[in-house]
Amino acid sequence: MSHVDTEVRPSNFIRNIIDEDLSSGKHNHVHTRFPPEPNGFLHIGHAKSICLNFGIAKDYQGQCNLRFDDTNPEKEDINYVKSIQEDVRWLGFEWAGDIRYSSNYFDQLHQYAVELIGKGLAYVCFLNSEQTREYRGTLKEPGKNSPYRDTTPEENLALFEKMRKGEFKEGECALRAKIDMASPFMCMRDPVIYRIRFAHHHQTGDKWCIYPMYDFTHCISDAIENITHSICTLEFQDNRRLYDWVLDHLDDFQAPNRTRQYEFSRLNLEYTLMSKRKLNDLVTRKLVDGWDDPRMPTIAGLRRRGYTPASIREFCLRIGVTKQENLVEVGMLDACIREELNEHAPRAMAVLRPIKVVIENYPNMQPETITAPSHPNNEAMGTRELSFGRELFIDVEDFKEEANKHFKRLVLGKEVRLRNAYIIKAERCDKDADGNVTTIYCTYDADTLGKNPADGRKVKGVIHWVEASTAKPAEFRLYDRLFTDENPAAFETVDEVINPQSLVVVQGLVEPSLANAPAEKAYQFEREGYFCADNKDSTADHLVFNLTVPLRDTFS
Ligand code: ATP
Ligand code: MG
Repeated sequence: MSHVDTEVRPSNFIRNIIDEDLSSGKHNHVHTRFPPEPNGFLHIGHAKSICLNFGIAKDYQGQCNLRFDDTNPEKEDINYVKSIQEDVRWLGFEWAGDIRYSSNYFDQLHQYAVELIGKGLAYVCFLNSEQTREYRGTLKEPGKNSPYRDTTPEENLALFEKMRKGEFKEGECALRAKIDMASPFMCMRDPVIYRIRFAHHHQTGDKWCIYPMYDFTHCISDAIENITHSICTLEFQDNRRLYDWVLDHLDDFQAPNRTRQYEFSRLNLEYTLMSKRKLNDLVTRKLVDGWDDPRMPTIAGLRRRGYTPASIREFCLRIGVTKQENLVEVGMLDACIREELNEHAPRAMAVLRPIKVVIENYPNMQPETITAPSHPNNEAMGTRELSFGRELFIDVEDFKEEANKHFKRLVLGKEVRLRNAYIIKAERCDKDADGNVTTIYCTYDADTLGKNPADGRKVKGVIHWVEASTAKPAEFRLYDRLFTDENPAAFETVDEVINPQSLVVVQGLVEPSLANAPAEKAYQFEREGYFCADNKDSTADHLVFNLTVPLRDTFS
């Protein structure tokens, strides 16, 4: 059985609520939505929300909308709109019907704002931002009513229309809901629901110079789309009052089974920054090579690094869904990919720091072909062809002139097995002027090809190798954590915690079967780790492999 078993779904409190709503007859179907703001690439935290929302829709034969929450035109970009769609699909999910945008509803949202004004429930306020803050009060003290609070609906309708026509400057006024300046919930103290922004919008162009705020937009968009369960992260817990208040006061949304908001705790991951704003900072400061840098916790970065959709879904399953704040160990994410690749990744040989070996008693001038299994425990994965010849390369780390018995690799005068090939014995070596070994001269035993040498000789060590004339040069990008501290978000600037060793590049060699390795396809480079060809930079002329994850957890 595969470790990555997405069929087993432990229940969680949200699923319990859904079960109740279905059995009580409140709902006869489930309709969720995933509402990213297109102001950056999606990250692993979003994956948690995606797996939850799309996963629920899938399991309950319901639907999940993809809705771009696009009410901040200055920060948003059409490229993010594209990358988000690609990432959701890559994770293995498909949204119901067309892509939605909050901006699809700008006309309706405007009408609903007019409805609230008409009911005396919203007013145009001219307090400047400093005054607004002062009037808002604090957690301990109630706020004060704005002097504009008691203007008539007629006046407010006229002022709102002037806002819409661009007759006021940015920041000069805003439309506020008239709720309660003494509410213990700050978000209920007459929140702004529309503000003026003379900004071009990626979907609506220059049609609008007033844009609705998130809290006003989100609940109405959910209600328009007949969302049944609107699932979001805990920081919106207080805002649920506002979510309900807005819908409570609009005539169109009085159905008893209208949308409800439920909150769960967001994913925080050790050694990882999760906010798009902070990730954007890394990109713009060129501390990483773009949003899809393999060190980034973005879906695109994880993909480029070699993570698979199944491993990310499995991770989201293992972390669960609760209301408890938490910091998840990175080891958990590594374990998910490692378990999957151990089972499914074909094996191959790559020498990261090559040193030359000459087999002096090898009789052929031409290399011979050896057939090796692609996976040690899975015959169905087939075989691959290796070349063996007089000149080979092994890894520098696998040779010592002298060593004690704990060093189970190649030592002068001792034997070692070459993986999938023969037993060799190191006889002597050449060194350069600095004393570095340049060539190791060996002899081989022609009777030892394969796993069980005829003479039953005990050889403890097995090392990997490539044949010199057929091996392909390759660049290896060895990634480590991007940050040196478990909680990088706690630092003033990332400069204090960025890991200078997060990328080490080495030039080495791979076996010829990897010449056409498809991008993102995982291999286990024996004794080195899991790697995949880089989806941007690897070409037939210049192979580039990214370290996905080492074979074992070497960090902790
Ligand atoms: P960030 O600041 O990290 O980019 P966000 O909440 O501003 O997060 P949105 O694009 O608004 O990003 O998020 C879309 C959805 O993904 C929201 O429902 C949000 O609650 C959810 N989400 C964002 N970050 C996380 C996280 N770390 N864990 C779980 N869900 C998350
Ligand atoms: Mg947001």
